[in-house]
Amino acid sequence: MKIDIVTIFPAMVTAPLMEGEGIVARAVARGLLDIRVHDLRDFTTDRHRVVDDMPFGGGPGMVLKPEPLFAAVDRIRDERGIPSAVILTSPDGERLTHRTAARLSALEHLVVLCGRYEGVDERVREHLATESISIGDYVVSGGELPALVIVDAVARLIPGVVGDQASVSGDTFARDGLLDFPQYTRPAEFRGHRVPPVLLSGHHAEIEKWRRQQALERTRRHRPDLLGDS
Ligand code: SAH
Repeated sequence: MKIDIVTIFPAMVTAPLMEGEGIVARAVARGLLDIRVHDLRDFTTDRHRVVDDMPFGGGPGMVLKPEPLFAAVDRIRDERGIPSAVILTSPDGERLTHRTAARLSALEHLVVLCGRYEGVDERVREHLATESISIGDYVVSGGELPALVIVDAVARLIPGVVGDQASVSGDTFARDGLLDFPQYTRPAEFRGHRVPPVLLSGHHAEIEKWRRQQALERTRRHRPDLLGDS
């Protein structure tokens, strides 16, 4: 999969995606992911490389100008081919869920646009982006952290990116839309707290049953909305 990220803070996304030791960086090193990070300022035409301007109509803060973002996507299109999706990170976008990540993981080429300040000129959403995605009902200071979250969630669903695919398909939300069951490791007793005995029993069917019950119980308690949906 090809991924292009457009940002005014390239270092913020380059380090964790391409220089780190995480799942995504390893997938890049192995050639499963082809990620490029573009500095929005490289697509300005003025001496001061200005990417923002005051909002029409007044009000606080600055707005990202449309020209550099359109120019960046034009260049990506020329050099990397027509993207399958141009995603604008935005708190009012479609909420990122497992379903969204799974849909995006099947695409060949994603472009992710990172907003800043008060946001981006609306014409970017209307005429450049093919969709807007929000990572949740809160506001962070820029689209860089959302871009990292989107890329990580999407990448781990691409076959081969996570070494053990069973671990991905068993994750919270992936398996029947339920939360994950509790996990324990050694020691069997820690500060007087014991691991549930069934996990030490060796009875595979009993363990499966217990995990299923726990997953259901947790989902019922913490996220009843997930049960209502399915
Ligand atoms: N004034 C805007 C917030 C701008 S925050 C509003 O109230 O909607 C600046 C940038 O951070 C946004 O353009 C977007 O790219 C990014 N951003 C902030 N919160 C986000 C979220 N929850 N999901 C995705 N992107 C977000």
